[in-house]
Amino acid sequence: MNKLIKALACESRVRVYIANTTDVTNEAIRLHDLWPSSASVLGKTMTIALIMGAMLKGDEALTIKIDGNGPIGNVIVDSDSKGNVKGYVDHPHVHFSNKQGLDDITTLGYNGYIDVIKDLKLKDLYSSTIPLETGDLAKDFTYYFTSSEQTPSLVALSSIMNEDNTCMVSGGIIIQLMPGAKETDIVFLESKYPILNNFSKLLLEHTNLENILKLLFIEDYKLLDIQEIRFHCDCSKEKFYYGISTLGRNEIEDIIKVDKQAEVICHYCNTQYIFSEEELKNLLKGMKKWKH
Ligand code: ZN
Repeated sequence: MNKLIKALACESRVRVYIANTTDVTNEAIRLHDLWPSSASVLGKTMTIALIMGAMLKGDEALTIKIDGNGPIGNVIVDSDSKGNVKGYVDHPHVHFSNKQGLDDITTLGYNGYIDVIKDLKLKDLYSSTIPLETGDLAKDFTYYFTSSEQTPSLVALSSIMNEDNTCMVSGGIIIQLMPGAKETDIVFLESKYPILNNFSKLLLEHTNLENILKLLFIEDYKLLDIQEIRFHCDCSKEKFYYGISTLGRNEIEDIIKVDKQAEVICHYCNTQYIFSEEELKNLLKGMKKWKH
């Protein structure tokens, strides 16, 4: 199973998150029949969402919604603090490559926005929107952390696909300066750019993520947590019953008359739920009861 690690480094003035999301991305490819470019963009977004999820606590959760006005359409990813992630894209069959490999920027577009919605279990959701300007998710999220969360961060993401349309490696690292970080920490981190720029190589060479910490920080780090991460959709027939009931009585009666059944597909995991005529009629009876 894939893992995410949290650590402190540079005498605890720097916070580090590293995730290997290869299995998570392969599960998304299987569920959504993603072509390589769509898989790369969704894989990277899931990596960021999992790391941002690891910054939450308890039952808190978040949603990332990206619309770059490119061929992939919307990219939607949900995650929580427990290592669960689920996500989908509007158009799974998108593929563009260039000399460097998969072309995320053409796939995603570079003229839109990134929306981060956090459910911190307070009265209101916390929502923050930034423009998507480069289409390079690492760069755009670096800007997000600085502008929306006032936390200077270094973000590196990577995704490589195999010839057979499976994911060879996917993952990322986010390094954040804590209050009290020194100028020397920034200089030190900048000196690591050449290694971080090829993050796929690091992930392929180090199945144990702690070895990446060792490589970057030698002895000067403290491992805080190792978390298992997974693609997990919590949908159920019960949840969709509620969804259908919100359509209202007339609509449901029409469905019974015309289609004899209702078919609902979960966007996040492509599971199909069929509601029979009898189940829909029972739902109507239930709705009547709720009214009285
Ligand atoms: Zn689902």
